[in-house]
Amino acid sequence: MINNITLKTFVHGENCYLYCPFPNKLIRISKEHYSEIKFLERYGLDCYLKLEKESQAYKDIVVLIQKKVIVESPIKRIEHPLTNYVEPLLDRGLNFLILQVTKDCNFSCRYCLFASKSSDNLKLNHQSNYMSFDTARRSVDFLYNHSQDAKELMISFYGGEPLLNFDLIRQTVEYAKKIFVSKKFKFGMTTNASLLNETMINFFIEHNFYLTISLDGDPQTQNCHRKFYANGYDTFDIVWNNVQTIRKINNDYFISHVVFHPVIFVDEDNDKVMGFFQSNGISNDMVSIQYANTQGIDYTFNGVFRENIEKKSIPISDFKKMEETLKSNLPILVNWHHSGPCVPGALRLYVDIAGNFFPCEKTCSLVSIGNLDQGFCIQNVKDMLNIGKLTSDNCKHCWAVRFCSLCVSQCVDLGTNKIDKGVKTWNCSKQKDNVIKFFKEYIDKTMDYSL
Ligand code: SF4
Ligand code: SF4
Repeated sequence: MINNITLKTFVHGENCYLYCPFPNKLIRISKEHYSEIKFLERYGLDCYLKLEKESQAYKDIVVLIQKKVIVESPIKRIEHPLTNYVEPLLDRGLNFLILQVTKDCNFSCRYCLFASKSSDNLKLNHQSNYMSFDTARRSVDFLYNHSQDAKELMISFYGGEPLLNFDLIRQTVEYAKKIFVSKKFKFGMTTNASLLNETMINFFIEHNFYLTISLDGDPQTQNCHRKFYANGYDTFDIVWNNVQTIRKINNDYFISHVVFHPVIFVDEDNDKVMGFFQSNGISNDMVSIQYANTQGIDYTFNGVFRENIEKKSIPISDFKKMEETLKSNLPILVNWHHSGPCVPGALRLYVDIAGNFFPCEKTCSLVSIGNLDQGFCIQNVKDMLNIGKLTSDNCKHCWAVRFCSLCVSQCVDLGTNKIDKGVKTWNCSKQKDNVIKFFKEYIDKTMDYSL
């Protein structure tokens, strides 16, 4: 990039392609055009235009410059457009409260940094700490006092393993139902399902709970990833038996209110995991595979990450979102910020066992965005919302700016629990690889337009 020209060229199969982010155009180009664009990148816009070459390819590129397809980045300042609306959004617009009801967990999982028995990182290590009812009640009150504009509310329970504190969940549900008389609201919980029993299941059905079960799939995968913390025993049989109990008690509830979030490593076979659920009559839309961090208690990134990511196709929902982005006419403005960051606290408010606020469970090792005693720390909220400022110079000229979905959770150094520019930059390159992959899949599926 010279003279602020921001574009991306790449080769796919026999063909060359050009993506120009500001008019948002993906174009097939000839090899001659491709070479000309390399000249343009090398010389910069002003020098290139002075070359006045006779070749058709040169003339075509000049036309693209004149028609503002190839254009300088209009972005002069990285600032999130919602920065000035943070206060009213947090004052009146909360709609999703997540309560960390315990830090304790009865599982030890390969990919979970919380599970390390030897970890000297006390902040991350599982601790036998439980939220008190007083903290849960004050959190619900906080939601009540800051949700005037919200149409529908959700209260969700998270851990560790939240069923270790089922009594608190029951009390909190009863309290919320007492105070929220005129609002529609739902409950949710993410659980490993090992402690579920019939009483709990009936309670969840009665109170319309949405359950996310973290079962990693077939017995081999689940047992390899997830052991009981106390004795190292396999977990699949108990979890699967409890899943069957939900089905037996109320199959309609199971289909409409239960989803599965298996977690696998990038070098594992997602088809095998999906196949397990399908063969047990669980439809694809009830299963959403998540990829584990490249670090875990006995797993470390082995260098094949990129290769394996390259082999997997983009999940359908992500493909659709990226296709919408590619078709968007949204102009990019002088003040801009890549998409990705939520308004911390407003999209979700995660309250830890001690009453500290975080944007979500993925960010609870970072500095908090407030607490139950003092309310929100607006500056910390604005800093997280404007995470683009961390890589401001790169973002201003980034060809992937329309597609970028990085948020503060992808900028955390897991060693220091701090926001880190290097981590963000590493995720930038993953992000860009993914966009190129999308372009290639999109081309294979749909594209027939060339220069
Ligand atoms: S993952 Fe990022 S965007 Fe999503 S809730 Fe957490 S902080 Fe917000
Ligand atoms: S990929 Fe990186 S440089 Fe590009 S917009 Fe996103 S954060 Fe900024």
